[in-house]
Amino acid sequence: MKRKSIRQVIPSQKVNMGGHIVEQPLPNQVMDQLDPFLLIHHAEWTFKGHQRQQEVGIGGHPHRGFSPVTFVFKGEVRHQDSFGHDAVVGAGGTQWMHAGKGIVHSERPSKELAEKGGEQEIIQFWVNTPAKYKMEKPYYLPLSEEETPFIEDVHYKIQVVAGDYKGIKGPAKTFSPMLLLRGEIKGDAVDLEIPSHYNTLVYLLDGHLEINGTVVKQKDLVYLNNDGEILHILAHEKTRFIVLSGEPIGEEVTSYGPFVMNTQTEILEALRDAQMGKMGVLIEEF
Ligand code: MN
Repeated sequence: MKRKSIRQVIPSQKVNMGGHIVEQPLPNQVMDQLDPFLLIHHAEWTFKGHQRQQEVGIGGHPHRGFSPVTFVFKGEVRHQDSFGHDAVVGAGGTQWMHAGKGIVHSERPSKELAEKGGEQEIIQFWVNTPAKYKMEKPYYLPLSEEETPFIEDVHYKIQVVAGDYKGIKGPAKTFSPMLLLRGEIKGDAVDLEIPSHYNTLVYLLDGHLEINGTVVKQKDLVYLNNDGEILHILAHEKTRFIVLSGEPIGEEVTSYGPFVMNTQTEILEALRDAQMGKMGVLIEEF
């Protein structure tokens, strides 16, 4: 098997999300998306405490046509939605949602985090859905660290959130083939195998690493070529990274705010349906 060559290493940029500064590795100056991945945000917040849960985080908003996924690294994230789901996921866990034909959800820190204060670190990324599954019923899966399978060595731990990795099956249901991993490594090397035709991105949360011989530093996005299977990851210090890889869907993408469809007409329909309450009504409980 051959190592994937590196196409480009792209530093992430800080963007302002309604008053909150987050790192944005994707989209970037080089690409609007890497099919099927549409967006990656890395946020590190400190909650000051003595706040009510309803005062912090993001209140009810709709989505349609893709999967917004949140990897939780520090602090807890509570999800509530218009289909009645309500779950808190802590560090090492994942909030997985397929918005399908439409859902309204809120994303907030846990009650404890709002009241006592503390750090929260998350990565949210958006995965596109093939046209024929965009109007499926919404699907939600809260996944704790304990429920996430992994491979492990003295020097590394790699969690498999979605896709198959050497017989380990990630729990999240996807609508196109992909492999989504989150890793921690210290002072050693690991070879990861990714199908060569999968579009592949690696994002580094902290520290620095060598990936297939190229030095990568914290908050860099590594864009790999589809010319091999191996990611040789060599760490000189303790670092954390994620691997987003998947078969390209190869369809036109038209997005507007929280909706990702194929055509402008479908976007207008999504706006209308959301306004008419067809994505449900979320009455949050605190
Ligand atoms: Mn959302």
